[in-house]
Amino acid sequence: MSATFKALQVTQTPEQQFTQEVVNIGLDKLPPGDVLIRVHYSSLNYKDALSATGNRGVTRQFPHIPGIDAAGIVVNSNVPQFKPNDLVMVTGYDLGMNTWGGFAEYIRVPAEWVVPLPSDLTLQESMILGTAGLTAALSVNGLIQQEITPSLGEVLVTGSTGGVGSLAVSILAKLGYSVVAVTGKSKSHDFLKKLGAKLIINRSEIDEQTGKPLLKERWAGVIDTVGGNLLATAIKSTQYGGCVTACGLVAGANLTTTVYPFILRGVRLIGIDSVQCSMDKRLLIWSKLAAAWKPTYLDELVTTISLEQLPEKISEILQGNIQGRILVDLR
Ligand code: NDP
Repeated sequence: MSATFKALQVTQTPEQQFTQEVVNIGLDKLPPGDVLIRVHYSSLNYKDALSATGNRGVTRQFPHIPGIDAAGIVVNSNVPQFKPNDLVMVTGYDLGMNTWGGFAEYIRVPAEWVVPLPSDLTLQESMILGTAGLTAALSVNGLIQQEITPSLGEVLVTGSTGGVGSLAVSILAKLGYSVVAVTGKSKSHDFLKKLGAKLIINRSEIDEQTGKPLLKERWAGVIDTVGGNLLATAIKSTQYGGCVTACGLVAGANLTTTVYPFILRGVRLIGIDSVQCSMDKRLLIWSKLAAAWKPTYLDELVTTISLEQLPEKISEILQGNIQGRILVDLR
């Protein structure tokens, strides 16, 4: 084992700019923790781009190594539940936020954050899914728990070509739902059809500006990954007794709505969090993702890059221009 490791480091300049550079760092600089992991794969999520560009809501201390996802092999551990050579993954908690994260050949983390790799997933597959997959699956699980079955009608997915969105489309289609995918990308219709979307609509079609409190009932369920006015419009168009999940904010953190969809149509709005989600629930959802919920077309979803290519992709994800998932190969 070398005494240094390669990582994408974000540094704050005296002019309050944030620079991203691949550097070699001493292993002794890793934070304290129970389990040292040789990272084989990480992935790029929207939150990583916020961290890498100095968003204080995500990361307060620099120099920093982003990366909220990591999968790899245990090198050493001071807890009995993990042993050298175990295949493991870590998503969420404080990884990549204020704890150095997965855009590095090594991470050291508390044992409570570590998930044993399910036997039916490879390390590579676990990171094609990553936080985005966990979040998409938690959203689907939220609809199922609210008894939204495929026979009730169409399910809308917003931000559908993004990480969470494309995986939500894939899982819903695999489970037999009729998926309507909303996208801002006119060139991605074939991609969404391949993942299983029955219908693809442009963002402008569900970006209602009239301020009406209710719209024609359409969706049995909604998986929203963008927030803002698209979420507000989706709530107004949800059928009697339908359910909407909310996990993201790329279109805005504000939600302007009335109580009418909730009190006249019994619509339910459910928040989704993958970061602090309990370990029991995580293990349950990952076991589904490794089996019946595993997306059929994982290969179609992924673009594999190196650490050196991350800065370019970070800039693309901030502009909403990523299709599917970005896998970072650190082997
Ligand atoms: P991506 O960038 O991969 O996907 C976001 C997609 O949203 C884009 O690809 C685009 O898809 C669409 N989009 C982008 N900008 C806008 C806009 N201004 N208006 C409407 N749609 C837009 O991000 P992720 O999938 O990684 O994350 C999506 C969101 O979910 C983020 O806000 C992220 O922070 C959040 N998140 C939350 C988690 C949680 O635990 N609550 C966990 C993971 C993510 P298209 O062009 O197809 O419309």
